[in-house]
Amino acid sequence: MTNRIPFIAGNWKMNLDHQQGIALVQKLAWTLKDANFDYDKCEVAVFPGFTSLRSIQTLIDADQYSIKLGAQDISAQDSGAFTGEVSGVALAKLDVQYVLIGHSERRQHHNETDDVVNKKTAAAFRHGIVPVICVGETLEELESEGAAAVPVRQTLAALAEIGDLKDFIIAYEPVWAIGTGQVATPEQAASVCGKIRDAIREAHGDVADSTRILYGGSVKAANVAGFLRSPEVDGVLVGGASLDAEEFSGISRFQSHLAI
Ligand code: PEP
Repeated sequence: MTNRIPFIAGNWKMNLDHQQGIALVQKLAWTLKDANFDYDKCEVAVFPGFTSLRSIQTLIDADQYSIKLGAQDISAQDSGAFTGEVSGVALAKLDVQYVLIGHSERRQHHNETDDVVNKKTAAAFRHGIVPVICVGETLEELESEGAAAVPVRQTLAALAEIGDLKDFIIAYEPVWAIGTGQVATPEQAASVCGKIRDAIREAHGDVADSTRILYGGSVKAANVAGFLRSPEVDGVLVGGASLDAEEFSGISRFQSHLAI
């Protein structure tokens, strides 16, 4: 057992408008309330698209939900002539507490390099937002370099030359497991998460002990407990299954499956 609080994150990607998002968060909050969910023992966060952030923030605030709010991206810049970008200043103003950085879909479709990921990580720290840095290998990289090499390299690159490392989260998401239904085994996930932690310890010292390292890739209520049984895995980043309140609530209540 570790004293790191598990983190369950729902990445909605480019799904749901703000009204659908409100309905989902309400249903999720009610379902977890009915199950007497203890938010002190497990953090639950949703990552809607930018246009839904304000509505979800207002809902969370008004109804005093304990669900946390995250964004799916952040600009490396704080202001200026960067059309279409969203700054950490604006996200912090909306009480956004977490931000996904370097999701494989951004690396793949928007050419986000390790350098961009590093600059965005620094931007999140500047604005008091906890970066959830996504790392993971493609199938080709898995075959040529093994499972841990790329995620370890991407983790170290994201944190490079950031003097004062604050709270951050790493999400290990093998690219071949995202949205494919092809899940890593709990042993594979635990092994890579352990190697990422070792690399953080070697490069940055004790911060490795408090850093939460998540697994992501085709997680569902039916398979989540397998991953979270390992002390190396501190939570999950969930895509498709986070769009269903019942399913995401089942994932969040993984602790009830652990004894089985
Ligand atoms: C993701 O988008 O980060 C993800 C893990 O997606 P899925 O759960 O659908 O594989």
